[in-house]
Amino acid sequence: MPTFAHLTYLPNLARIDEDKRHMEGFVHEAELCMKLGIQNIVIHCGSRRDKEKGLDMVSKAINDVNQRYSLGILIENSAGQGNTLGGRLSELSQIFEGIEMKDRVLLCLDTAHLFASGYDIRLRSTWDTILEYITDRFGSEKIGLLHLNDSKTDLGSNVDRHWHIGQDKIGNDTFEMILNNMRFENIMGVMETPKVDNMDEENMKVMRSLLSPLVSRPSS
Ligand SMILES: [Zn+2]
Repeated sequence: MPTFAHLTYLPNLARIDEDKRHMEGFVHEAELCMKLGIQNIVIHCGSRRDKEKGLDMVSKAINDVNQRYSLGILIENSAGQGNTLGGRLSELSQIFEGIEMKDRVLLCLDTAHLFASGYDIRLRSTWDTILEYITDRFGSEKIGLLHLNDSKTDLGSNVDRHWHIGQDKIGNDTFEMILNNMRFENIMGVMETPKVDNMDEENMKVMRSLLSPLVSRPSS
């Protein structure tokens, strides 16, 4: 079973040229992954007013870590809040263009972020468009992980507020469609819903109830 770490929010990879602590933070956590035997790390693209420069810096940061460590890097899409990069798949594609070891880099798609940044993932046609775009720009099997979260905020709001599965704007029908989409059959999913009461258990129950019995999956 593959393992995934998540880079903390402090390093802003879009500004590695302005403050060396951003790159140092990334390298430090990549090093920790190696020591702990974690094969992959999920990163955010950071933020920068000058988007072009920022996207270029993210590619550079990834290239630097790829040179030093044999670690899978997953670039996560963002909600597109403020100057945050990675809200559009085209921005992720631009970062990917600048990457030297493309075989080590995958995407992590967050449902709440996609929705908040304007992708209406309640529609199957939107998923078809997203998957076609990713295959075209990144290659086949380049989605390495799904972050499965409902969204408290509206479509296109650009505000990032994760919520419990099926209890807000995205809804159960969407998660049912994702879970039973054969194109995601071998992709792992992680929920990043608020940690209150026994909601982790509840969210898991909801997810299991949405799974079609026709799709075989590991029981863990
Ligand atoms: Zn996420």
